[in-house]
Amino acid sequence: MVAFVSDAETGLRAIIAIHALRFGKALGGVRFYDYKNEGEALTDVLRLSRAMTLKAAINNIPLGGGKAVILGNSADYEGAEREALLKAFAKHLNTLNGEYYAAEDVGTTVADLSVMFEESPYVAGLPEHIEVIKRHDARWGSGDPSPVTAQGVFYGILECLHRLYPNKKLSEHTFYVEGAGNTGYRLARFLHQAGAGHLYVADINPHAIAMCLDEFRGKVTRVSTDEGREREVTVYAPCALGNVVNDDTIPKFNCKIIAGSANNQLGELRHGDLLHERGILYAPDHIINSGGLLNVANEIESKGHYDRPDVFRKLLNIRSTLGRVFDRSAGENRSPARIAEEIALRILELECEFKETRRRVW
Ligand code: NAD
Repeated sequence: MVAFVSDAETGLRAIIAIHALRFGKALGGVRFYDYKNEGEALTDVLRLSRAMTLKAAINNIPLGGGKAVILGNSADYEGAEREALLKAFAKHLNTLNGEYYAAEDVGTTVADLSVMFEESPYVAGLPEHIEVIKRHDARWGSGDPSPVTAQGVFYGILECLHRLYPNKKLSEHTFYVEGAGNTGYRLARFLHQAGAGHLYVADINPHAIAMCLDEFRGKVTRVSTDEGREREVTVYAPCALGNVVNDDTIPKFNCKIIAGSANNQLGELRHGDLLHERGILYAPDHIINSGGLLNVANEIESKGHYDRPDVFRKLLNIRSTLGRVFDRSAGENRSPARIAEEIALRILELECEFKETRRRVW
């Protein structure tokens, strides 16, 4: 389902895409981004909503895949103007009868979600301890998903290192973190605290870099994205943009592992195969960055009784899920990216067959 949404009063232009409802309600972030045109926004929302379906399926999270994009430069909308636009968007959520839940994504914040929640209950990833907001029932929000995502990525990196270097210590490895934002900065902090060898960090935001240089003093070097990708490191962790593994970048990589938080890291699935041929271990993004989805899913499933310890228990599954994909990849000599995609699609297929069988029986 693709809905084009507009509101003359606030100038809202948005697209909501539901990719699949086979596993449950569709959940996905609202990306507020300055797309060149509607075509580019549509392509993005379709790609992202599909990725959400696969992410939920392979990580056994009982949700479907959806995503929304608001067209415009998020930074240009402040105060009352931003509030009116977000509320106009939230009103449209109510017309979908709860089939799509909106969450945070690039360009939107947890605070934006509480504004939307004033108009619609179909919002998740609310601030922690949010209680009776105007018309809706009490809810305990799961808060910012980024720390959970970053911790999951850290676990995933440990699994990758264990596969390739079972006898080496973390201090013997170097890391390039691309994007020191909500997830990248926290990942760098996990690595630093765990005693990682040298860190290289790239970000276009000087404040993000300053924070890393200050906190990880002596153990971090600022690099450009080109330098970072070409540097000889054990792990390259893409934590900013998607489409960073493509025909141009693959020949330049000098890392052994690619494992980070960014969505849609591969330009195309075949780029995962090319990494495999080059001997670079790739942690499929929809497994390694699933912590945020797990966190928000708990808020919805628990109907207002968000259970953080349960989330952190399930977060450990990222390691075992990656481990199983790597085992199969090694056994069949096919890329982890392809194996992970096939498993997710097969799970969806089986779910459909099961539902169809149940329908016939009843
Ligand atoms: P963020 O906006 O907080 O951080 C991204 C950082 O990347 C920013 O500091 C930004 O300045 C930097 N950046 C942007 N363009 C860059 C460039 N060309 N070169 C270097 N740095 C650049 O976002 P985030 O929440 O950390 O998310 C990062 C990625 O992880 C996104 O792809 C997002 O979809 C994905 N992701 C995030 C979560 C989550 O819980 N936040 C969950 C799953 C996936």
